[in-house]
Amino acid sequence: MDDCIFCKIVRGEIPGRKIYEDDEMLAFHDVNPAAPVHFLVIPKRHIPHVMALEKDEAPLLGRILYKAQELAAALGCAEGGARFVINCKADGGQTVDHLHCHVLGGRALGWPPG
Ligand code: 5GP
Ligand code: ZN
Repeated sequence: MDDCIFCKIVRGEIPGRKIYEDDEMLAFHDVNPAAPVHFLVIPKRHIPHVMALEKDEAPLLGRILYKAQELAAALGCAEGGARFVINCKADGGQTVDHLHCHVLGGRALGWPPG
């Protein structure tokens, strides 16, 4: 998608503090962190949100979640844990329309969200 911020990060057109990259996904620090650890893991392919996921893309989401927990552990969250969040569309609080899994950790987080 030409005007998608996260597609631009994938293409290297705008900077992102990358943590991990392979042929199908990218992880980078959130520009406006809400916790000491706050990064995003995204598919490189433009999928707008989780409710647009095709059945054959479900394994990709599993691999993204698996990588998210590996990276969370590598960034110091193995013992304390972390929160893995996918916001979806307006009611879910999604502001960037490219599927992404937030990983937040490094402090105790409240529940439920406001
Ligand atoms: P959402 O509200 O869609 O679930 O989360 C979007 C997240 O993307 C927000 O936490 C926001 O801070 C982050 N974000 C928005 N634009 C950029 C950007 O250009 N670079 C990075 N690294 N993060 C961004
Ligand atoms: Zn995109």
